[in-house]
Amino acid sequence: MSENSFISIRNATIASVISGVILLTVPVLRGYVVSFLSWAWSGVVWCWDALVDSYSLPGWAWLLIFILALIGLINIYLAIKGESEEPEFKSYVEDLMHGANWRWSWTGNQISNVWCFCPRCDATLVYDDSFCRTFGQINKTDFICENCNCTVVASISGGDKDYATGAVKREISRRVRTGEYKKH
Ligand SMILES: [Zn+2]
Repeated sequence: MSENSFISIRNATIASVISGVILLTVPVLRGYVVSFLSWAWSGVVWCWDALVDSYSLPGWAWLLIFILALIGLINIYLAIKGESEEPEFKSYVEDLMHGANWRWSWTGNQISNVWCFCPRCDATLVYDDSFCRTFGQINKTDFICENCNCTVVASISGGDKDYATGAVKREISRRVRTGEYKKH
């Protein structure tokens, strides 16, 4: 027997063995695939049955109720979380500036109702910005305590009453920005 015919017989034998193995294996594989698919399909059918006709309410309605309840719970959680995260500076509503005790409230992140009180007797101060309307006078606003013999408690130079309260608002904002308010 020549070497060439030996090689061709060997190759034919290997080829038939490999094709035999493939032919044996393919039906087995096909069996696995078929049984997996039928198992998956039965799962889908079971889910569908559970969704459409296992309860007094249809399953999809239960699913809808569950989703709505979940959204509600998430909203409640976010609302509670949002409230507890109120900025720290909102508790800063009083400070001593220009010699008077100033108080204000927060409307959102805006300062409102800012006014001053006497640091000695806590009386509401009255303002006098008549200097601003007199020619040749320094622009200033005095804050006076009627309860302490009409003494001038605070004096803010630069403008009238609106200018003075604006200046105080700017000072409050500055102390919030720099974190200086936390020292009080
Ligand atoms: Zn006073």
